[in-house]
Amino acid sequence: MVEATPLHFFDALPAAEALSDRFGRRLSYLRISVTDRCNLRCDYCRPAPDAYRAEAHHQILSFEEIERIVRVAATMGVNKVRITGGEPLVRRDVPLLVEKLAGIPGIRDLGMTTNATLLEKYAHDLAKSGLTRINISLDSLNPLHFRRLTGGELAPVLDGIQAAQEAGLTPVKLNTVLMRGINDDEVPDLIDFAAAIGATIRFIELMPMKQGMDWQQHYIAIDEVLQREAVRARVDVSAALHTGNTAARYLPLNHGAGEVGFIMPMSARFCEGCNRLRLTADGGLRSCLPADHQLNLRDLIRRGGSDEDIRAVFMRSAMIKPEIGIYDFATDHEKRSMIHIGG
Ligand code: SAM
Repeated sequence: MVEATPLHFFDALPAAEALSDRFGRRLSYLRISVTDRCNLRCDYCRPAPDAYRAEAHHQILSFEEIERIVRVAATMGVNKVRITGGEPLVRRDVPLLVEKLAGIPGIRDLGMTTNATLLEKYAHDLAKSGLTRINISLDSLNPLHFRRLTGGELAPVLDGIQAAQEAGLTPVKLNTVLMRGINDDEVPDLIDFAAAIGATIRFIELMPMKQGMDWQQHYIAIDEVLQREAVRARVDVSAALHTGNTAARYLPLNHGAGEVGFIMPMSARFCEGCNRLRLTADGGLRSCLPADHQLNLRDLIRRGGSDEDIRAVFMRSAMIKPEIGIYDFATDHEKRSMIHIGG
């Protein structure tokens, strides 16, 4: 008798083949930066122009190389992939990559994080190519503040959000990096905006990426924001924060069915549930965002490395994943900025 294939085949991988680290965490989520270029210049993400140099095109992984890496990763239980950057949509033909990755057996969840400036043009193609979800960065609803913060225009971003919803990339998630004195006063407006358009908004604590903005000055803990009257009027802070299976914790809105997410990499680390690996645009495999240690898959592949060699690098990366990610930016060595790592 032929046995039916289990519905979630990769959940059933023998323990020896599924990728896990020394602390028993299963690593099933790969975030892939497809470019270190961006059409915005958010202070918290990108170093000053004199300290920023994008990689030459030949240094960046080709779509075929990315596809191969994901195929191998999928045989080790990676089932969730997010395409990010830099800005992923500045790379030509990204919907083609989406189509390639969506077709890989075992990949059940394929998302993208984008600034949405080019999304109006691509939303439909992305949905058709198999993208299942989209996260959009939105740090201000005030066009002047938006321009000051990002160097770009707000209007195309709002058009992009609408296009994503019309293309069925729902529920759209909006991500706001919280910055004291810059956009923390916009939290109520952002919550109202998201509720009005039926999107979920998540507020992210500012992380100290060394080459970016002055972290001490602008960091604000989520807890402090949750004390504010205007926020409590909108969010049920008495409810237990629930996590779902992501880094975000959610609280329900007081009115209506939605919820608001909070991502607290600084005040409430979520390392114990971390299932992530990151692939940088130039082929570095990183198992921890703040730990500046990565293994080079690009050179291995270009030297003719086998799939077994790629698997070995994944296993090594899992083995060196630290138990806790430590943001120690007091040290003087250069940390890579988010634009280089991929957010
Ligand atoms: N360009 C895309 C975008 O804007 O969403 C994708 C790349 S961006 C690096 C991905 C995410 O990283 C964004 O949500 C951004 O807000 C977040 N991010 C970048 N630097 C950060 C920092 N210093 N602290 C917290 N979040 C940061």
